[in-house]
Amino acid sequence: MKAVRVPDAGAEFEVVDMNVPEPGPGEVRIAVEACGICHSDVFVKEGQFPGIDYPRVPGHEVVGRVDAIGEGVNAWDDGQRVGVGWHGGHCFSCEPCRRGDFISCKNGQVTGIASDGGYAEYMTAPAEAVAAVPDDLESAAAAPLMCAGITTYNALRNAGAKPGDLVAVQGVGGLGHLGIQYAHAAGFETVAVSRGTDKRDLAMDLGADHYVDSEAEDPGEALVELGGARIVLATAPNTDAIESVVSGLGVDGEVLAVGIPGEPVEVSVQDLVMGRRSVAGWPSGDARDSQDTLEFSALRDIEPMIESYPLEEAADAYERMLSNDARFRVVLEP
Ligand SMILES: [Zn+2]
Ligand SMILES: [Zn+2]
Repeated sequence: MKAVRVPDAGAEFEVVDMNVPEPGPGEVRIAVEACGICHSDVFVKEGQFPGIDYPRVPGHEVVGRVDAIGEGVNAWDDGQRVGVGWHGGHCFSCEPCRRGDFISCKNGQVTGIASDGGYAEYMTAPAEAVAAVPDDLESAAAAPLMCAGITTYNALRNAGAKPGDLVAVQGVGGLGHLGIQYAHAAGFETVAVSRGTDKRDLAMDLGADHYVDSEAEDPGEALVELGGARIVLATAPNTDAIESVVSGLGVDGEVLAVGIPGEPVEVSVQDLVMGRRSVAGWPSGDARDSQDTLEFSALRDIEPMIESYPLEEAADAYERMLSNDARFRVVLEP
């Protein structure tokens, strides 16, 4: 099969011929139809994640068809269309797993990091890491929902906001353009916060009720004027951006970070204590959460905006993702 792999930390991608992998016990093999390129693929490309064995095929936004089934797997059928995301399997026996909190598994595997991922024509995945893909979603559109989609959807649905509450989505990019759609579909009064006016019309089209240009006005003050946010979903991996919205929270308001800045965030504890505010984070979710994301997206016609490339052009596609110019998710199609 054709695959794109990283030969060593920091090295260039190489297009190679590899043996089609055989599914082990408890695994399925997937004939890949689409794989999104996520910013977290930088971990693999640059060796920023502990314990990666190189060469490694990246890719954790995978959609394809089950085409071989390992011993002991009954949940999936040959030919069924499925997806695999960041969460690439769990141990079932650690304390979080015993409580059903699989995303917090102490021995959790990450797709495309612990094992080869979706920058290839075929990959294998543990059966518990697989989600069913609804017929209404095309594979290329479903792929980014396996990471960018589930992260924003699962964060918002667990954040405690109710329909009508003021919910801001900070950053109108790969995560944010999905977050706005989910917030709108969930019935929240939705605010898009971004720098400049370029993305204003798009944000309103995606379902925002308000747009805050964080260059023209202080986003914290703007949110207070709108009544104070119950949730700010912070998608931009930027400390200044996160710090700038804490003052815009209402009572019990929460900044929920899903983008990860490289530097620590400074917060006034006084701002937190008065009004019971908090700054928190949210990881993605498990395979059933992914399936919920796909099903809700199909139900409400929510799709990512994508640019797609053939597998052989993975290196160019990856650069496009890094450039921040892509609108908004880059997808490889073998
Ligand atoms: Zn990702
Ligand atoms: Zn576990």
